[in-house]
Amino acid sequence: MKESSIGETMNIALASPVQVGGNIFTPEQLAKISNVVGLDAKIEITPFRQIYVEVPIDQRGTIQQELERSGLEVYTAGAVTKSLIACQFCRGAEEAGLDTARMLNQAIAGIETPTPMKIGYAGCALGTSEPLLKNIGVVKMRDKFDIYVGGESKGLKATLAKKLVSELAEDELVAIIMKLIDYYKANAKGKEKFSRFVERISLEKLQGVLL
Ligand code: SF4
Repeated sequence: MKESSIGETMNIALASPVQVGGNIFTPEQLAKISNVVGLDAKIEITPFRQIYVEVPIDQRGTIQQELERSGLEVYTAGAVTKSLIACQFCRGAEEAGLDTARMLNQAIAGIETPTPMKIGYAGCALGTSEPLLKNIGVVKMRDKFDIYVGGESKGLKATLAKKLVSELAEDELVAIIMKLIDYYKANAKGKEKFSRFVERISLEKLQGVLL
């Protein structure tokens, strides 16, 4: 995996587990981060629900183990798929699909991609995690799932994602999203942003390739 490194240090990305209540960190976890990275480390709260911390490259393994012992998840920073940006599951774990979201996160987080990718998940059509502003958005609709693609929240031409496929069963989700990421990796022009890639290839062609 490619690491984002700055001299003798590198960034690692921390996230709390996908859970009911959303992006919650405990006081112990925050204290642990402070203890293991030291008082001089740079800590950045990103807009995509990860905390970036700068750590010495030669201590990365030990620091990662310490942080994971406190229940945090540690991911690669940089041009990868980010950990799943999920909602708060306010309708309850079962109705909002917590297990599905966790399974998705496990499958998709940390894959090297031409540009960083954000994948969102919402447990219902209210979409409070803003899935249509993510590069790929998954929305649970009763017991099925819709996938949206091409959202982009950055820039003056922010774009809403468009629906790629409706009413997928839970066990079809990972395969389609992995296929989509693989297709992007194989066909992107250099560091082409995912939203631009979707626009260039077209929704119809993507549907033909993926479904
Ligand atoms: S997307 Fe739906 S289930 Fe998830 S937190 Fe928002 S309202 Fe609740």
